[in-house]
Amino acid sequence: MTYSLSRREFLRKTSAVSAAAALLGTGCLAAGKSKASKLPNLVFMFPDQFRRQAIGYMNEDPVITPSLDRFASESMVLTDAVSSYPVCSPFRAQLLTGKYPLSNGVTTNCNSAQIVMLKQNERCLSDILYDSGYSLGYLGKWHLDKPHEPYVGRRRGRVGMQGGGIVWDEFVPAHRRHGFEFWHAYNCRDQHLNPRYWTKDSKRTEPVYFNEWSTKHEADVAIEFIKNPQNKYRSENKPFALFIAPNPPHTPFDQVPQKYVDMYRGKTYKDLLNRPNVDLNNPHPQAKAHVKNYFAAVTGTDEQFGRILDALKEKGLEDNTIVVFTSDHGEMMGSHNRMHKSVPYEESIGIPFIIRWPKKIPARRDNLLLTPSDIMPSLLSLMGLSNHIPNDVEGADYSSIMLGKKGKRPTSALYLNCSGQHGGRRGLRTNRYTFTITPYEKGEKEILLFDNLRDPYQLTNIAQSNPKIVRKLTAELKRWLKNTNDPFVIPTEA
Ligand code: CA
Repeated sequence: MTYSLSRREFLRKTSAVSAAAALLGTGCLAAGKSKASKLPNLVFMFPDQFRRQAIGYMNEDPVITPSLDRFASESMVLTDAVSSYPVCSPFRAQLLTGKYPLSNGVTTNCNSAQIVMLKQNERCLSDILYDSGYSLGYLGKWHLDKPHEPYVGRRRGRVGMQGGGIVWDEFVPAHRRHGFEFWHAYNCRDQHLNPRYWTKDSKRTEPVYFNEWSTKHEADVAIEFIKNPQNKYRSENKPFALFIAPNPPHTPFDQVPQKYVDMYRGKTYKDLLNRPNVDLNNPHPQAKAHVKNYFAAVTGTDEQFGRILDALKEKGLEDNTIVVFTSDHGEMMGSHNRMHKSVPYEESIGIPFIIRWPKKIPARRDNLLLTPSDIMPSLLSLMGLSNHIPNDVEGADYSSIMLGKKGKRPTSALYLNCSGQHGGRRGLRTNRYTFTITPYEKGEKEILLFDNLRDPYQLTNIAQSNPKIVRKLTAELKRWLKNTNDPFVIPTEA
């Protein structure tokens, strides 16, 4: 569990400038350009639906990812990072608030059929960086706003059909951007080969369209932001934090440049779907049709990420920039005959988390059970801003572990899905087990327990034959529920 870690008081009443100046020793940020510039920059790239297995370095999916492989060899690579609630908006809200969904209110995806959105008064990671003197940029998918009428996005499908009639895209007004000054983004639903964005000064009715693959386009903008010609994008005297949130390799899978598909020429779906939990005799039709496109988008993402890393190097910023590569959740791609996410299997909850800070973070693999809520406090602490971690943050600060020092480790990561008649599903991922409880009618429940060491593809549910482990993990889950303000009721043990 994570809550025994102490946190320093959040100095809400201290002005950000003086707090940052205190951090730097003497003087104030405005007067101390050289000192301010010593604060590390942050480049945080999180493509959508990019599963942990889809990096060549992990030696799982047969993907082509030379940039990520090289980057991983220079970084701390987490093998057990978990997307606690593996869908878009809940991940993004946890990332920015450091709080789990029941506490930050983003308990499902934001769209026209839901009432949830990121609350205006949340003190976000980006708000804190802004107040600490950072130049901030956001590129790509935001997905923390609720579309409202008159809609600027198209309805999806016919009203009355499953998922039909729902609107996902929206303009995000400047006052809801939580400190991100440079803005080249949209709420949700990217047409990957014909993307549209609202830029810093766009009106709601005037998005800008581009005719190129969205990830390539966003990398071009990211490189401009990093290189910053004529100080056009940010103040050279300030540190910067750039968040890049491409939509691929998310659906629509077939909207990917052919040159990346061609890199898998000659490979059949049987070559690519190499996980033993995919039934190759009767594969999910979408997996059969699209695994090559999915891996092509992975390879394209890799190429564009590599260009961004090159820009940092060319600008001489490599050493003083923390770079993170992660994702909001994974993609089942035919494993257990499923597609997409939400479920507690590894292909869905397993996210890459690769963090590089040369000469500070030792390169290695680590099985830290990081969740999205831990990212904000850990990054702030790494960046020297631990005094600014809000008191109500629920995630833990694992910066000392990242720096190769000792630190308290969690024994489990929380999994949750809040949709469903009886509160949805809750569970845990430990370094060994995946455990979930789903309540049904009349006190009935389904318990899943997988031993990921003996059964890494999660083919056998061992809950029935291991009541002791189930009891132990149920007790640990109860502590998580208490600490995350979660009213979920675990049906009593039979
Ligand atoms: Ca997503």
